[in-house]
Amino acid sequence: MTAKVIDGKAFAAKVRAEVAEHVARLKDEHGLTPGLAVVLVGEDPASKVYVKNKHASTIEVGMASFEHRLSAETGEAELLALIDTLNADPAVHGILVQLPLPGHLNSELVINRIDPAKDVDGFHISNVGLLGTGQKSMVPCTPLGCLMMLRDHHGKLAGLNAVVVGRSNIVGKPMAQLLLGDSCTVTIAHSRTKDLAEVCKRADILVAAVGRPEMITGDMVRPGATVIDVGINRIERDGKAKLVGDVHYESAAAVAGAITPVPGGVGPMTIACLLANTMTACCRTNGLAEPKGLTA
Ligand code: NDP
Repeated sequence: MTAKVIDGKAFAAKVRAEVAEHVARLKDEHGLTPGLAVVLVGEDPASKVYVKNKHASTIEVGMASFEHRLSAETGEAELLALIDTLNADPAVHGILVQLPLPGHLNSELVINRIDPAKDVDGFHISNVGLLGTGQKSMVPCTPLGCLMMLRDHHGKLAGLNAVVVGRSNIVGKPMAQLLLGDSCTVTIAHSRTKDLAEVCKRADILVAAVGRPEMITGDMVRPGATVIDVGINRIERDGKAKLVGDVHYESAAAVAGAITPVPGGVGPMTIACLLANTMTACCRTNGLAEPKGLTA
């Protein structure tokens, strides 16, 4: 079997176009422009690229983008004061603090200072609790993007066996909650899991969020399964820099029914879902109906 390639780039373009349409309608009908504030502390090169891309995508869909770049030496009190200001600013509907923060800053304290209604990353403890109890919340962007692709591919997910490899707070755990919300039978695997290959082989849906290049190989994939590769790993091969996922693409694609590539799979969906979340936050804050299909 050769797997169907799930084109995250094309799917993300569709989501961004839908968001842009809703932004135009909000402006026309309610005089509202959704606004996203991104806070970057320090000079981490990867973070700078992510923030630049987020800014460009926000502008492209017609939203307002507010960038706050602070020096690596910024103190906690200064950062918390900025978040308080953004929380109180009616032009800002979404706030994202780019992680990782420099070591002297307490990420949990900073994230939990964000107004949960503006927490478009979905990392605030209130949103984590709401998601865990099946209530309306802001949903973390990467797992939300994975869920959208899975729903699009499968239609209904109820009853399918899902295995999520990785239990981080930003990907693995919320991914598992979302799949459970769609009535999958969910297993979460991690570094202490015994016989990972056997566990993975039970999956109709296999989500890899491990951070280890090409660790999930074709012999761990059930024939016909859907494989979602969240991993983004920069490696060097044949003297060239290369981006690979957590899944060994060639061997997995030979067995799977469908698979997301890296690049061009989950990555583009993450930014599209950030825009979708900002739109959702703007609608909720203003008591307006939120667009269907852009939330969990
Ligand atoms: P973390 O490092 O926070 O978590 C990795 C998880 O993988 C942990 O739960 C760990 O288990 C588990 N793990 C590590 N080694 C093994 C192993 N040998 N067998 C089984 N499980 C293992 O990573 P993130 O969740 O933040 O990210 C995962 C990947 O997704 C990374 O490649 C990252 O770059 C990518 N990513 C991509 C995004 C996108 O937009 N596409 C967004 C966010 C992340 P344990 O808990 O036991 O240590």
